[in-house]
Amino acid sequence: EKLEIRAKSGTYPLWIGTGALKELAGFLRGRNPSKLLIVTDPTVKQLHLDTLLEEIGDDFPYGVYTVPKGEEAKTFREYERLLTFALEEELDRRSLFLAFGGGAVGDLTGFAAATFMRGIGYVQIPTTILAHDSAIGGKTAINHPLGKNLIGAFHHPLAVFYELSFLETLPVREKLSGFAEIIKEACIGSPDFLQELMEEIDGPEKLVPENLYLPLKKGILVKKHFVERDEREESVRAFLNFGHTLGHALEKEMGYGRIAHGEAVATGMVFALSLSGAFAGFCAPYEGWTGDWLRWLETLGYRTKLPASLSPERLAERMKLDKKREKGRLRFVLLRKIGEPVLTAVPEAAVIEHLTRMKGA
Ligand code: NAD
Ligand code: ZN
Repeated sequence: EKLEIRAKSGTYPLWIGTGALKELAGFLRGRNPSKLLIVTDPTVKQLHLDTLLEEIGDDFPYGVYTVPKGEEAKTFREYERLLTFALEEELDRRSLFLAFGGGAVGDLTGFAAATFMRGIGYVQIPTTILAHDSAIGGKTAINHPLGKNLIGAFHHPLAVFYELSFLETLPVREKLSGFAEIIKEACIGSPDFLQELMEEIDGPEKLVPENLYLPLKKGILVKKHFVERDEREESVRAFLNFGHTLGHALEKEMGYGRIAHGEAVATGMVFALSLSGAFAGFCAPYEGWTGDWLRWLETLGYRTKLPASLSPERLAERMKLDKKREKGRLRFVLLRKIGEPVLTAVPEAAVIEHLTRMKGA
């Protein structure tokens, strides 16, 4: 199926489904690029590069460049090496980068495309559940030693080919990490969407492409809704950060790699819901519902409690340092109801109190 994402720079197509990759060759013939540079990581290369190359055929010259997997791809060093390779391979302004992998590969490739010769086109071919989120919306970035995603650009892809059969080889942890973003989209999107998720995906073994098509499509529509209204995150796009303020602090505090992005976001959403009860009037119509939701998260394998070793004061301090800070005040995306996010300032003392309540053994 084809969706369209509107951006100031133009509307681009997103193909989603098993078989979405079949649309790639026609798209490429339509653009007639001088050369392709496929950027991927070692795992995706080994599992799926042959499938991609078969679709591309031999109509276009191409190079393949492999970056380290995970956050190690998003460094200045890897960014420079990728551009060096592109120059050596004689790519020009009529060439295209193809981001073939998860969000890390997509973020690096998009940023490289945004800056190579002042900006060339690129295509997203996401291979993780998480990348349904990162592949659209035009945010690209690498990390700085002082913080994640601090160096980047807004640069939309020319097209997205979301081939769901690639998701079959994902380890369950990566599946859960990506699925947390779908839960997030449902929480800020609509009660019906969340209800369906809770009914259809009642265990981690249900996270297979057949069951994921609708949740992914609906999640993408929620993201599209907010991004199209606020491309540069000056207002409503910020709602997509539901669960992320504590999530980012947890990732830093525990160490990237020790907790996956979405796992941290899941715990962040539990916290945001607890604050929503106190500061956004959440719950009255949902009595008893929050308990079901928490049990559902636990059944799936998410962490709904904070590890006892973490200090609430330190976490609060980290949240104040987040790049979305505003004069050191802590602001959170909270829910008035499911599907009704609000941005609310919360006093630090309350933040610490709610964190303390969430502590587990
Ligand atoms: P990732 O690219 O690191 O992929 C996660 C892991 O899955 C890697 O080890 C990778 O090798 C492996 N993998 C990928 N596809 C696979 C497949 N089909 N089968 C088996 N293994 C596979 O990252 P991610 O989790 O997809 O995304 C996380 C990144 O996305 C972070 O850097 C985050 O900052 C970024 N992000 C960006 C945006 C945005 O708007 N630009 C939004 C959300 C997240
Ligand atoms: Zn996220």
